[in-house]
Amino acid sequence: MAALTTLFLHFSSGDHLVVSEDLYGGTYRVLDQIFAKFGLTCSFVKTSDNQAVAQALTPATKALLVETPGNPLLGITDLRFLAELCQDHHLLLIVDNTFLTPILQQPLKWGADIVVHSATKYLGGHSDLCAGALITRDETLGERLYFLQNSTGAILSPQDCWLLIRSLKTLPLRMERHSSTALKIALWLQNAATGGAGLLSRPE
Ligand SMILES: *Cc1c(COP(=O)(O)O)cnc(C)c1O
Repeated sequence: MAALTTLFLHFSSGDHLVVSEDLYGGTYRVLDQIFAKFGLTCSFVKTSDNQAVAQALTPATKALLVETPGNPLLGITDLRFLAELCQDHHLLLIVDNTFLTPILQQPLKWGADIVVHSATKYLGGHSDLCAGALITRDETLGERLYFLQNSTGAILSPQDCWLLIRSLKTLPLRMERHSSTALKIALWLQNAATGGAGLLSRPE
């Protein structure tokens, strides 16, 4: 939330954001109950619906903030389409990539300007740290975000940095195991749903 808060401080009173309605509750809360007080307005739309996103843009819109898959409904958004839309309208495309991690999805490759992570989840992976990250490949934007972070104090303690570096070393292995375990459960559920009929095998 510190990373997201720092990011929202980039915007000004009167600016408008289009945000996934399938959204982490804390992100909704900080926008709806805190940043709204400072005049940053938002439309929460189903970003899996390209037309709905296009229709939500106003002359004051400055950015799109997307979770894909969304937390909690796991809605999927077409990042390539939204990246083009953002380019056409000079908007920032921000992707909260907490759920897939950089192992399974790299939004910068699809045209995102800023990627957000809660490192408290898979990146940390051991339930012993709270952290977040903002990533961009635009140097000016990176300096701006660093300025905001440094000015408002959302920094990580040395101990938590160390724990996070430790965690990242096993991230690829952990994501592989998360995925294979999830696939096993999905196949088990599918088999249960068909009453054991139809032998389901694990795709190679
Ligand atoms: C948990 C979560 C956050 C907030 O992360 P914290 O590290 O708990 O502050 C933000 N976005 C998504 C998608 C999350 O799941």
